[in-house]
Amino acid sequence: MKLLPLVLFLLIIPAICSAQTKNKLHFKSIVADTHNDVISTVTLRGMNIEDDLSGKTHSDIARFKKGGVDIQVFSIFCDERYGMGTAFNYALREMDSVDAIVGRNPATMMLVNNPSELKKALRQKKLACLKGVEGGHMIEDNLQFLDSLYNRGARYLTLTWNNSTSWASSAKDEKANTVPNPKKGLNDFGKQVVKRMNELRMMVDISHVGEQTFWDAISISTKPVIASHSCVYSICPVPRNLNDEQIKAVGKNGGLICINFYSGFLDSTYLVKQKLFLEKHQAETDSLKSAGKASYELEDWMYKKYASEIQSMRPPLSLLIDHIDHIVKLIGADHVGLGSDFDGIESSPLGLDGVQDFPSITSALLERGYSKKDVKKILGGNFVRVFKANM
Ligand SMILES: [Zn+2]
Repeated sequence: MKLLPLVLFLLIIPAICSAQTKNKLHFKSIVADTHNDVISTVTLRGMNIEDDLSGKTHSDIARFKKGGVDIQVFSIFCDERYGMGTAFNYALREMDSVDAIVGRNPATMMLVNNPSELKKALRQKKLACLKGVEGGHMIEDNLQFLDSLYNRGARYLTLTWNNSTSWASSAKDEKANTVPNPKKGLNDFGKQVVKRMNELRMMVDISHVGEQTFWDAISISTKPVIASHSCVYSICPVPRNLNDEQIKAVGKNGGLICINFYSGFLDSTYLVKQKLFLEKHQAETDSLKSAGKASYELEDWMYKKYASEIQSMRPPLSLLIDHIDHIVKLIGADHVGLGSDFDGIESSPLGLDGVQDFPSITSALLERGYSKKDVKKILGGNFVRVFKANM
């Protein structure tokens, strides 16, 4: 009988030691996330990122620290309802919010616009805060607005969101054959936008863009491009994901694909499950809608009410590692990173409940057999390289 405690001891101690090693590597590494929507979430819902927002959002300041996040690109975003005369101003207001949030938290956050500021923020162990504009519609077909966004701190522009611009077609429109322009891809003005971004030292983000726009942009860009939040098409065939030819082209370009944590881009069965869930509860959502509940509140409310159903739809974390693995096998470990899309997604893999859970990715990569060197590249080293290469 005395053997049992000894066996337990021998089993538990190595497990604790191994967990500590993984954690140590995580907190020693530079961890970068190239896409987080919390700015829109907190400003729309009147919340403070300084508060404990567990259970309400994926992100808050204390949880960034807990997750060992060193670099965060905050998404500057408005949807297709904003256009000429409104989208650029909306982007500026979101940038004001980032500046205000960082301004009132100087002990924990620092605005970063170039590699030397990044170095300073990392040295001072503050969250390095960058801005990325998600959607070309925010330049309102005006290169001066592009310059202004750069001057205000935008370090990438996602050429399109789901909506095409007059100069670039989106993945959604290319797939549905609803491109509003005479041709798919970039027109002459779109090509000028990419060239100007290179001159400005602003990263060209090819997440959300249509395949033709992707090929046009990558052939023009003289700097490494980034996919700030995209996954692998051959594992999960949705138009937002990148096919193997696109992945190989990003490798040749020296660029970076940052894996999105959205269950619908990781798991090919998720969107079907979600559709069935929504159909099952259609009557309830309709009555809430007619009672005047806002659509973003509605989704949240339904997902909380039916939490166990939602929980059962989440894929395992290992599937996210499969996406990383696929890219590494195609083009090596120098071209993959993390672009969570936290606070812009309603479902993520089990065990990834918010920014506090980034260490789980490090553990999963080590368990998959990745070397410490490659783990460090994937966590953030690759982003730092591409950021510098764009300067
Ligand atoms: Zn997005």
